[in-house]
Amino acid sequence: MPDRKTTAPGFDDTPFLPGSRFRVHDKERPQPPIIVPATGSTREAPGRPPSDAVVLFNGKDTSAWVGRDGGPAPWKVGNGLLVIAPKTGNIQTKAQFGNCQVHVEWNIPAGTDGNRNWGNSGVFLMGRYEVQILNVSDALSYADGLTAAIYGQYPPLVNACLEPGAWQTFDILWEVPLFEGEKLVRPAYMTVIYNGVAVHHHAEWLGGTAYRQVPVYRPHPPTGPLMLQDHGNPVLFRNIWCRPMKGYDEP
Ligand code: MG
Repeated sequence: MPDRKTTAPGFDDTPFLPGSRFRVHDKERPQPPIIVPATGSTREAPGRPPSDAVVLFNGKDTSAWVGRDGGPAPWKVGNGLLVIAPKTGNIQTKAQFGNCQVHVEWNIPAGTDGNRNWGNSGVFLMGRYEVQILNVSDALSYADGLTAAIYGQYPPLVNACLEPGAWQTFDILWEVPLFEGEKLVRPAYMTVIYNGVAVHHHAEWLGGTAYRQVPVYRPHPPTGPLMLQDHGNPVLFRNIWCRPMKGYDEP
């Protein structure tokens, strides 16, 4: 493989791109970092994170997480899986994230017994903004509470859920809301790929997740933890990772 930095082709006499310090096909424009991409999950085996991801759960332990009291995460790890210990509370990452790509694999155990809340959990960006997890393959919920809903705001564009016992995946692209003091100057946006299907495309968040209330934004820092919800039901997780997202040409 040639040295991309010194021998990559390009131009120094083309026009500048509008608003950019780089020319069209600029030979000085930095090459993007080379990473090893993720591998997809299967029903039998978890996928593998890309090489530049912050690995949050790899089947071994909960060292990347804390419980609601800030102490060790109280959920259980066994057979390479992270399992909600019901009624022990949400867990959240020690790491704080702003704009990012999040990957979570999860599985609702079979055995719903008609419990409408069976499999209720959720993935919260910045500890505030929930993408819902719920068994909805053989149970009903309101549209904006279905699995992969932006809870209380938008139903998923399609219901791509699998039956309990199946491994399912979220791939979430998150753009943080921006505040100046108490004032919101740009809302949060989210794109969600659920089981390989786009179910939200640059959805504009109306505010932090709320139940039976109109969501509102409350100012918060520019980064926050990824949080997993304990809603009193066992749900399994595996292969959780996050990639902070930079802008183009940011070092
Ligand atoms: Mg939930």
